[in-house]
Amino acid sequence: MRSVSEHQDVVAALFRAPRVVTVPAASALGRVLAEDIAAPITLPGFDNSAMDGYAIRAEDISAATEESPVTLPVAADIPAGRTDELTLAPGTAHRIMTGAPMPAGADAVIQVERTDGGTDNVAIFAAAPAGTAIRRAGSDIGAGVRALPAGRVLRAPQLGLAAALGLAELPVYAPVRVLVLSTGSELVPAGTPLEFGQIYESNGAMLTAAAIEAGAHATQVHFVPDDVVEFRARLDSYIDGGDEPGVDLIITSGGVSAGAYEVVKDALTGEGVDFVKVAMQPGMPQGCGTYTSAGGNPVPIITLPGNPVSAQVSFEVFVRPPLRSAMGLPAQRRTIPASVTETFSSPKGKRQFRRGELTVTDGRAQVQPIGPPASHHLAYMASANVLLDISADTDKVEAGNTVEVLVLEEL
Ligand code: AMP
Ligand code: MG
Repeated sequence: MRSVSEHQDVVAALFRAPRVVTVPAASALGRVLAEDIAAPITLPGFDNSAMDGYAIRAEDISAATEESPVTLPVAADIPAGRTDELTLAPGTAHRIMTGAPMPAGADAVIQVERTDGGTDNVAIFAAAPAGTAIRRAGSDIGAGVRALPAGRVLRAPQLGLAAALGLAELPVYAPVRVLVLSTGSELVPAGTPLEFGQIYESNGAMLTAAAIEAGAHATQVHFVPDDVVEFRARLDSYIDGGDEPGVDLIITSGGVSAGAYEVVKDALTGEGVDFVKVAMQPGMPQGCGTYTSAGGNPVPIITLPGNPVSAQVSFEVFVRPPLRSAMGLPAQRRTIPASVTETFSSPKGKRQFRRGELTVTDGRAQVQPIGPPASHHLAYMASANVLLDISADTDKVEAGNTVEVLVLEEL
């Protein structure tokens, strides 16, 4: 049997290096910047007022006090957005708003609260040293200076800066385009009444959501019955179909274990895909490789087991980290040590990933294992916020022991 870390390496090796694309800045949220971005302009682009008030010469109001105000004629009004270049004559004031360009000759702004707010003449009740309330050109960033580094995940503040710099497009790592394909003749879509023996398809929805959450573009393909010919035909048509957006990675679920009717295994054995047993619980049957379609297009494929908890845990353990890396995103989720609240057993020789609920009280992390180890318990999975990572050589975890937990959902 392959160890978890060996299989992680094999899966990771299937991924291609990140692809750089230039996208409209509005589509760059959550993507990773592929190149350093130098500021094309200076910010602020011109000296401007930091306050609503009056642009003056400091020396003209140096004697102003509450008791003995200085009164100046208001020679101009400068709202933000005025684009003509004004000059302040000595002994005058210009009413000016926050963000409006400073007139030449002015060296300070006296805020409106220190004046009577006049529009023809203004009485000023305090002095303001030169430089007061002026935002200098270039005080935020200078033209040519690196504004954003390659590798930065683009979130609101970074996109705000890019917008302020007038950047309409940004070079980012392209999202990996994932095709999620479910197999099983027992599966039916939501909205269809179930016949005896049928179940609603769930892995497709779950894995598609997981891939999108990881930053990928994911398309869920309607599931296929356990028929080798149809499975291959569907796979080929999705890969080779001319009007599809293209496929960088295929994730299947089901049809890889030891029984009969294992459609994925039967269809892809000898087609560049290896089917192996991995020493883990859940998720022992795994497969991966590069499948070449009828049209001659090679695509990495990861074939996850069908049991929903196995599929989800396998995605977390094998797929998510290299999928994130392939988009330049941080690969690893946070792991923290936590004290276990109850005793449970673990299969010797297999690394176990149990579902759990993490709570942190007064800085003390505690984890309650949720549900049995069996891999069909989706309801337990849905209430978990961590996976307990139990090493292969452990056969019993006692209440109070400390284990590493993989944080699926930040508290
Ligand atoms: P398999 O690996 O195909 O033998 O499937 C193992 C178990 O997972 C069976 O109980 C299947 O019904 C179930 N299963 C497989 N695929 C799905 C799916 N897409 N949605 C829900 N359950 C599934
Ligand atoms: Mg099946």
